[in-house]
Formats: sequence, structure tokens, C-alpha cells
Amino acid sequence: MFYGKHYDHRNELVAGLLTGWPDDQTYSEAAAWAAFCFQSFPMRRLPFREKTQMNRPTILTGDRTTGPLHIGHYAGSLANRLRYQDSHEQFLLLADTQALTDNAHDPDKVRRSVVEVALDYLAVGIDPCRTTICLQSHLPALAELSMLYLNFVTVARLERNPTIKDEIRLRGFGRDIPAGFLCYPAAQAADITAFKATVVPVGEDQAPLIEQTNEIVRRINAISGCSALPEARAIIPKAGRLPGIDGKAKMSKSGGNAITLSASSEEIRNAVRAMFTDPNHLRVEDPGCIEGNVVFTYLDAFDQDQDGLAELKAQYQRGGLGDSKIKARLEAILQELIAPIRERRAQLSDDRGYILNVIKEGTERARERTESTRRDVVSALGLFRL
Ligand code: ATP
Ligand code: MG
Repeated sequence: MFYGKHYDHRNELVAGLLTGWPDDQTYSEAAAWAAFCFQSFPMRRLPFREKTQMNRPTILTGDRTTGPLHIGHYAGSLANRLRYQDSHEQFLLLADTQALTDNAHDPDKVRRSVVEVALDYLAVGIDPCRTTICLQSHLPALAELSMLYLNFVTVARLERNPTIKDEIRLRGFGRDIPAGFLCYPAAQAADITAFKATVVPVGEDQAPLIEQTNEIVRRINAISGCSALPEARAIIPKAGRLPGIDGKAKMSKSGGNAITLSASSEEIRNAVRAMFTDPNHLRVEDPGCIEGNVVFTYLDAFDQDQDGLAELKAQYQRGGLGDSKIKARLEAILQELIAPIRERRAQLSDDRGYILNVIKEGTERARERTESTRRDVVSALGLFRL
């Protein structure tokens, strides 16, 4: 009854193994089938957590649900998240309420992107058995902590935050800044502290937000006279902030200047061809400039052969190396990086039920954790108890 393509029945199968095999099949037949399933569909293992994770440092990080993830995310945060799956207890937040702070006019996009971002996580190799994927809007403790934290930060301090300043400028808000947007550093502090996270792997643009989180933590700890909340440390990759394919300071989902992790091979080719190099490098024999040359910035981030790359850079600076050669090298590297992610993503997207289940189970686990911190903070602040 479990043979053929009906591998979706593995939940029942494992339940059967645990409760005593109910029908006419033998235990060894069932065990053989289970082994086959886990070998053939390793990314579909049932989400359960190993007890050994309990004493590891906690990571909280995540992404706004504003669209599919891009290679900037890969270099900026996903690669680190993959690295820490075993050594840390890791929570990834699908930040849909934060996405609304500058997308209130398009809640549809925010809702649709929840599954897109979760798909990207699973496609790059985030394993729901080792990492908890959870949905921000379904964790009410985060909203309550945000409200409390807003009392420990001033409007002037929020306006001075370099990340917020940059993002306000990029989005062209002028003085028409949505209040939720200006205040999102307090909400981000709520996200990080609700999990009592001490490690936050993020892109370089997010560092001031971690600093602001720690300021709030220090204030609450000082007022309560106890260490109710731990401070957090950002882990920022060497690659720093990946620029957009248009040469703008940051590749971003909202900027329309990204190569997504689901890009087709043609999209990758076209994006690399259109990339900004050195506008004064007109002929192959002209000396070229490396600084501000997007192709070299991407090669710095993704080329494994850094010695070969150093030679290439020297040759480009001397003259005698055409843009088409460096673009071909970059294209090959990106095609190789993205192809397996794209394939896994396509396979996974056929089973929406599985993705929803991963998010649901992760959110339930996260609810327990965040609720417990909410109680700690309320009690540390000495609010009236009924
Ligand atoms: P949006 O345009 O909606 O703000 P985004 O592309 O900036 O989307 P976020 O969800 O805001 O992505 O960022 C999630 C994480 O990815 C953050 O840790 C951020 O630092 C990192 N990140 C985003 N873009 C880049 C980039 N171009 N280079 C390096 N890291 C990045
Ligand atoms: Mg952003």
C-alpha cells in the first residue's frame, strides 16, 4: 500500500512503526520502505528536532517576504545560515509584518512571497529538521514586545539609524515615512530578543540594527535590574553588501536589480551581459579599472579560485583582457551555483502542502519560545499581574 509514488504517506508510515505495524505488512518491509524514502527524498524528512540542539547558541535571522531571494542573500546571509545549521539552534523568520512596513499598498505580494522565500530556504539546503522556519505575523508575542520596546527608543534615535536613513532615501519617502517603517528597528529588536538569540547572521547593511537592538536590551536590563535579555552579535560575511546588476549600492528584491536564486539560465546570461564594468575600458588593450566594476565585485564574492582571479585582475588592469572574457567566467560560476538550487526549487514547488507544513510546525515551535520571553520581559518590567 505504500509503494510506488505514494511517498507522501511517510507520516503514517512512521506513525505505524511507532505504534506497532497495523496491517498485513511485515516490520522489515516497512523499515526497508522507510530507508528507501529517506534516501530518495532526503529533503522531505519529517521535521523533528534533535535534543542535542538545546544547549547551542541561538541564531535568529530571516527575510522580508517581498519576493524571491537573490544571490545577494546567498552571499550575504544564506551561506552562513547553512554553515551554522549544526552548531547552532537556528530560527529563520519569514518577516511578513516587517515587509508590510513599506508594502502596505500591496499586501498580496507580501502574502504570496511567504511561500516563495520558504521555497528558497529549502532549495539552498536549509533543513527543517535542524532549522526552524517560522512566520512573523503568527507570533503575537513579537507584536507585544515591539510595543513595549518602542518606549525604550526615541524618534530621533530611529531617524539617526544609518540603515533606516539609507532605506528612507532609497525608497524616496521624504517626510512621508510610514510610522511602521521608521519603527521597524524596535520590531527587529523584538524578533531577535524574543528568541533570546545571541548570534545574528546578516548582510553588512543590517549591522546598525543589531547595535540598536543591543541598546534596547541594555536599557531593559538596567531598568529591571536583571539580565532578562542577552545581547546579540552580528555575523557579517567577508563579501559584504553585493551591489545590484545596475551597479547601485545594493542588490535588493525591491530594487529590480537582482539575479534571483530561481533565475533561468537565460536570465542569468542576460543579467551578466548587461552588467556594468568600466565605462573607460573601450578596447581590449586599454587598461581597465577593478574598483566599482560590478563583474569583479561578483567574482570576489563567488569565484572559488581566488589566485586565478588575482591574475585576471592584474591582466585587466594592465590591459589586454576584454570584458567578454570576465563576463563569461562570471556567467559560468553563476550558472553552476544557481542550476541545482533552481532544480530543487522546482521539485519542491510541486508540493505546496509540504511547504505549508514546514512553516506551520516551525511557527508552533517558535510560538512557545517567543511567548516564554514575552512573559520574562513583562515580569522584568514589573507590569501589573492579574
Ligand atoms: P527588500 O528590497 O524588500 O528590502 P532585500 O533584498 O533588501 O529586500 P531583506 O529581506 O531586506 O532583502 O534582507 C534579508 C537579509 O539579506 C539581510 O540580512 C540583508 O542584510 C541580506 N541582504 C539583502 N540584500 C543583500 C545584498 N545585496 N548583499 C548582501 N546581503 C544582502
Ligand atoms: Mg532590505
